[in-house]
Amino acid sequence: MTRTFALPVLLGLLIGTGSVARAASSNLLDPDAVLKSSLPAGTHIVMLGTGTPVPDASRAGASVAIVHNGQAYLFDVGAGSIQRAIEADSRLGIDELDPLRIGHVFLTHLHNDHTLDYAEWAGTLWWRRSNPLKSWGPEGLAAMTDGMYAMMGEDVRIRTSGSQPVLSPDAYRVGVTEIRPGKVFADNGIEVHAFPVPHGEVKPAYGYKIITSDRSIVISGDTAFSEELIRQSAGVDVLVHEVISDVGMRKLSEFWQNYHSSSHTTTRRLAEVARRARPKLLVLNHVLFYGETPDAVLSEIKTEYDGKVVLASDLDVF
Ligand SMILES: [Zn+2]
Ligand SMILES: [Zn+2]
Repeated sequence: MTRTFALPVLLGLLIGTGSVARAASSNLLDPDAVLKSSLPAGTHIVMLGTGTPVPDASRAGASVAIVHNGQAYLFDVGAGSIQRAIEADSRLGIDELDPLRIGHVFLTHLHNDHTLDYAEWAGTLWWRRSNPLKSWGPEGLAAMTDGMYAMMGEDVRIRTSGSQPVLSPDAYRVGVTEIRPGKVFADNGIEVHAFPVPHGEVKPAYGYKIITSDRSIVISGDTAFSEELIRQSAGVDVLVHEVISDVGMRKLSEFWQNYHSSSHTTTRRLAEVARRARPKLLVLNHVLFYGETPDAVLSEIKTEYDGKVVLASDLDVF
């Protein structure tokens, strides 16, 4: 499997010449322009936000984009995810991540480190949008969306009652689907399946399995150790999984150790998940470090799992 490559590094070198950066940014915020993408054909994973609720200068809130056949599909939209998408378009030339081209958002659960940019994705330049957002997620998504409309009420009233040109007065509204386990989406050669995961008191919380003609990908969302996730992930090309450092967690109070054990997957348990599921690539994401370094967390996994594993940073492409 040679699909994994350090694209940001390669593109960073190219951008250094200046010409790629200018060419790549020319289409930003112009969804009617001919799509120009720096990505080769096939399905790609762009890590928009690898963070957690713990503020981190180098990590946006949780968000993973799957780019396939001219479209990008978002899985979670944590704070800062839209800024990372703009960077991916303007600096890396991934035109599919132009915010105005995005039409599909899937939410794993409604913890705010996974949702805070929802209004950004629906609201950015909404008066220039011709393709309103659609969203899929757990029960509660419709109520959350209504709350967003309330937040945007004055903006919508002002922009639609004055002289400002507005392409479609309803373009800020989102087509919401509250999902149940099973196939939740199929179009444009991509299938999205939702499955329940255990995440403490968050019920329901979902993981997603994405299938295209060239790749199978599982995104864990936030989850404790899950037999269902192991079943869904058996032999997939890429498993993007959350994790908490075992060493870091042991420094916490008993309350927080218990809380995290029922809500998240420790490095030791994730190694077991990976040994049993055998993904071709394991991507560590949404890492709760608790003072441990990325290298240390990676070695916690590697001492107990001999497969291919990386720890994701924002804007990594797999
Ligand atoms: Zn989270
Ligand atoms: Zn969560």
